[in-house]
Amino acid sequence: MIIELKESVQKAQAEKLSIAYQALLFQENGKYILVTPFKQKNITPEVESLAQRVTHTSSDIQLASKDFRAQKRTITIGEITIGGNTQNTIVITGPCSVESEAQITACAELCVKTGVKILRAGSFKPRTSPYSFQGLAEEGLQLLHKIRSTFGLQIITEVKDSSHVHQVIEYADIIQVGAKAMYDQAILRACAKTQKPVLIKRGFGSTLQEFVQAAEFVLSGGNPNVILCERGIRTFETKTRFTLDLCGVSWLKENTNLPIIVDPSHAMGFAYGVSDLCRAAVAMGIDGVLIETHPNPATAQSDAEQQLTFEQFTALHKSLQPIAAAINYRIV
Ligand code: PEP
Ligand code: MN
Repeated sequence: MIIELKESVQKAQAEKLSIAYQALLFQENGKYILVTPFKQKNITPEVESLAQRVTHTSSDIQLASKDFRAQKRTITIGEITIGGNTQNTIVITGPCSVESEAQITACAELCVKTGVKILRAGSFKPRTSPYSFQGLAEEGLQLLHKIRSTFGLQIITEVKDSSHVHQVIEYADIIQVGAKAMYDQAILRACAKTQKPVLIKRGFGSTLQEFVQAAEFVLSGGNPNVILCERGIRTFETKTRFTLDLCGVSWLKENTNLPIIVDPSHAMGFAYGVSDLCRAAVAMGIDGVLIETHPNPATAQSDAEQQLTFEQFTALHKSLQPIAAAINYRIV
């Protein structure tokens, strides 16, 4: 149950109620909001008189639900807005990992050339093997910081564990919580304490319910700026790296108020399928796509097989606008 308290309710009173109801408490637009487990349906007449609105949901998808907010949340990233009624589809690109100044500069130049406003690259990489390249860590963040001011791009970068979450939050314009970190509550709680947009990637073994509940950790901690990212789930199929769950994207669109970005690169795992999947996703009416690109994919230190060349990306990018326009969306 979500209890939005009247603006006149002061902090001390809101805190007392949160203890009485064993509810999470946060503040939004000057009002206090209490969230109890969804099964809690009882409310005293006294609390009812202090409430501006009470929302009941059918599961612990609460703040992210359409019951709470019928319209999709609007998220502002620099000069770009997604969600709400914008019908904007944002394109995000960049390499899997920051590898060197020359490499990340080349990627930033690709963004400028194609009109892409958001560069994505990882510095702390959650690799499956401890023997693989783990990312440039702090050095990579410094490079991204330099690129940000040189090229005026917005930066999205990944937080791998709670040891560097505050560093990443400071440097990133959008914080990426990766598929493997989706369940890390220290990360989610730290992301709740900022107002920066947080892009949560779906764990490849996570149900949609679990995925959205990860978002609830951030929302209920007071950060309303959460974006969901479908990046493929593990199925019986082994010919592709993962299976892009576009049915799940439809479900999220229908049942949540969060903007949705699709990452076909990690789902497919091979460059040859990425453009087709990206076009299919854009045709659904989504809030963004995330595509991995590299100046020389064959030499990439991570995810080499799935990164697009600059030529492939440029051709893909050109093809997206008419697809988006066909369903009254706009590539931004
Ligand atoms: C990545 O975005 O480079 C990455 C590691 O993705 P995921 O968390 O989806 O596996
Ligand atoms: Mn990657």
